[in-house]
Amino acid sequence: MRAVVFPRPDEFGIETIAVPVPGREQALLRVRASMVCATDRKVLAGTFAGTAFPHVPGHEFAGDVVALGLGVTGPPVGTRVGVEAHVGCGACARCREGLYNLCLSYGKRETGHAHIGFTVPGGLAEYVAVPVAALHALPAGVSYAAGAWTDNLGVALWALERGRLAAGETVAVIGPGAIGLCAAQLARASGAGRVILVGRGARMARAAAYADLLVDAAGTAALTGTADLVVEFAGTADAARDALRIARRGGRVVLGGATGLGVPLEGIELSTIVRGHLDVLGSVANPKGISARALALLARGQIEVEPLVTHRFPLERFAEAWQTFVERRDGAIRVMLLPAKEDLS
Ligand SMILES: [Zn+2]
Ligand SMILES: [Zn+2]
Repeated sequence: MRAVVFPRPDEFGIETIAVPVPGREQALLRVRASMVCATDRKVLAGTFAGTAFPHVPGHEFAGDVVALGLGVTGPPVGTRVGVEAHVGCGACARCREGLYNLCLSYGKRETGHAHIGFTVPGGLAEYVAVPVAALHALPAGVSYAAGAWTDNLGVALWALERGRLAAGETVAVIGPGAIGLCAAQLARASGAGRVILVGRGARMARAAAYADLLVDAAGTAALTGTADLVVEFAGTADAARDALRIARRGGRVVLGGATGLGVPLEGIELSTIVRGHLDVLGSVANPKGISARALALLARGQIEVEPLVTHRFPLERFAEAWQTFVERRDGAIRVMLLPAKEDLS
């Protein structure tokens, strides 16, 4: 099969490799839609702990179940599925709480832990073998292209639920990238009264449909103390400072953008948090099968993701797809690779 391979840090290519054989607790998927993400930059750079080279990347994808490993009883062959990136060992204290995104056996494949596309091979390939625990059947009417957002939608919805979003509230979302635009839509679908989106650049133009107010990140002073809940997916210290300032007294702030090292937070007056009576929460990834509920909202048409797929390429043109994403050409939000030739029409 053809696959994107990172042979060593900072190098990539398309290679012909063996179709994987699904092992215990695994299904073999034929990949139908697969996206690249900013986290893949860290993987390619070799700065993501837990990635061994050569590596097949890809953690935002959907496809068909085409074979099951020994002893696996389902989902049946032919099921259309989206994939969650995190699979826990199932036995550690965090997994037993449902927080398999925080699995204590991270990276230890022998325990059953898998971070798909990071510590085990991913879906930027024609086929991939993944644990069945990662799979969500796509509801009727949800396309492969939309199903490739299974993980992203779960990440965004989990952040909102961490922040205890209540009906009618004002929600500010910082960061108009893929996850931020999912969060803005999911906030509305969850009953937010008003959604404010903070960001900058060409991507903001695409965001107009998903928020009641668009605010340039350079001019957020007027928002000070206005939001019941602020969700941050920009990943910068500026964005985190803005988030703490935009929350009203007694409000909630969920920081979800800075998932890697190297972003210290300075210049915060602690009384902003203490006298502000703020709940400041971190959020990473998507535990508890929450992606299934996000897919239900997608199936009902309460959110949309296909308009956020700004570019599509056959797998063979990965290099061009990668440049388009990295340079944010034409306001690129998500760039999709289509490994099956019949999906290219
Ligand atoms: Zn991603
Ligand atoms: Zn675990």
